[in-house]
Amino acid sequence: MSDFTGLKITGRIATPSDPDWDEARLAWNLIADQRPEAVAFAESADDVAEVVRFAAENDLRVAGQGTGHGAAPLGPLEGTILIKTERMRGIEIDPSSRTARIEAGVLSAELGAAAGEHRLSALPGSSPDVGTVGYTLGGGMSWLARAHGFACNHVRGIELVTADGEARTVDSENDPDLFWALRGGGGGYAIVTALQLELLPVADLYAGALVFPAAVGGEAVRIYRDWAASLPDEVTSIVRFVTPPPIPDVPEPIRGVPLLTIGAACIGDQSNGEATIAPLRASLGETIMDTFAQMPAAGLSHIHMDPENPVPGIGGGVTIAALPDEAVDAFTAATGPDSGSPLLLSELRHLGGAVGRPAENGGALSHLDADFVMYSVGMPMTSELGEAIHGHLRHLEEAMSPWAADGGYFNFTERPCDVDAILPAEVCSRLAEIKRAYDPEDRIVANHAVAIGPA
Ligand SMILES: Cc1cc2nc3c(=O)[nH]c(=O)nc-3n(C[C@H](O)[C@H](O)[C@H](O)COP(=O)(O)OP(=O)(O)OC[C@H]3O[C@@H](n4cnc5c(N)ncnc54)[C@H](O)[C@@H]3O)c2cc1C
Repeated sequence: MSDFTGLKITGRIATPSDPDWDEARLAWNLIADQRPEAVAFAESADDVAEVVRFAAENDLRVAGQGTGHGAAPLGPLEGTILIKTERMRGIEIDPSSRTARIEAGVLSAELGAAAGEHRLSALPGSSPDVGTVGYTLGGGMSWLARAHGFACNHVRGIELVTADGEARTVDSENDPDLFWALRGGGGGYAIVTALQLELLPVADLYAGALVFPAAVGGEAVRIYRDWAASLPDEVTSIVRFVTPPPIPDVPEPIRGVPLLTIGAACIGDQSNGEATIAPLRASLGETIMDTFAQMPAAGLSHIHMDPENPVPGIGGGVTIAALPDEAVDAFTAATGPDSGSPLLLSELRHLGGAVGRPAENGGALSHLDADFVMYSVGMPMTSELGEAIHGHLRHLEEAMSPWAADGGYFNFTERPCDVDAILPAEVCSRLAEIKRAYDPEDRIVANHAVAIGPA
């Protein structure tokens, strides 16, 4: 066991001999059994630099973690100091330049609320307590994605500590390669201490979800698909088969009930939004719930009512090139009302628009060549259920394989794999070059590693 007595930071170093060690090493995704050498609860960029320097001097590795939503593929973390940034929660908004500077532990909902005070919006995904840094480094697919592309391409600068313990700010002028790699290539190149982000002039919009019994089935998915294909980029939407767990956090009428939901965010005013959603309301029959309303942009990450407390999850994503009727049938057969699926949910997120077009001066994830991304997750409350979930994810992936696009989406890739399995070959070879230049000893551990070969 390493000796951490020489490591002094303002925050806290937790080690296996501490009575609360099991709590200190927890990730949001309770499926991850993290066993690092120590957990550093950093409170500043200086703390992070101190930890990275200590690791370099003691032949240890370091991993950055905001919340642990993306911890499933990270591995056991032997020989690694886990740097948790949850105490670094500073947010500064500059309304005149429409920018935010956020420290590495800021959650999506916190940034949304702070931006909302100035009638501005970030690019929030579906979960309020996802960490903004991890989400953004892996791309960041938001409710505004089709209009504004991936969140990573709205980053103006990144404050970080490189593997040698040096604190730097990288942007399009300074260390542009490193700046490029971190925007969509994940966190394997440096430990991020803060992000400088562009905000959007979106104060409110028409958004919510229509909730139907799952029995509406494949016909509803087909109607959704045709509707989604007809929409301008200002509308981003998601269809999902979901069975919310029977827990008090879930509203009573949908607790434990198999459902089909169609969620959408329509940039614009209420009358425009109502006109956009009207065809679905007209053709899909009676809803169990209809939560659409003109809402502040900060409300977006609550549309899905995702859990805000740590839970165990086994999930996976597949990019879908096109969704003909046969693909809808395969999706419904594997995850719909008569499928016997042990999954909590399986969803199709509509891509295209700005996420489908190369981003100007974009990062490692510029865009995705696919019509949809499918994401599915189950909650393994028992080990038998865990096995069933793994098996069903494999079955679903196989069923949808005729329509799968190449590669994947970083943030939804929850099985352990290198970036080579996710991003295009030319992107991966540039990422490997950058990794060799900035972290030649492979000191920085990420949930999806960049293979640099033997030193
Ligand atoms: C319920 C739920 C909903 C989700 N919804 C969406 C969505 O709508 N859109 C979307 O794009 N994704 C979504 N995701 C996926 C999510 O974006 C990823 O899991 C992401 O990795 C979470 O970031 P985090 O910081 O919370 O997680 P963490 O596990 O803390 O971080 C993930 C990885 O990011 C890197 N990282 C984090 N912090 C640092 C740092 N300071 N320095 C260097 N590297 C760092 C590390 O490599 C780390 O392993 C969702 C996930 C869940 C569980």
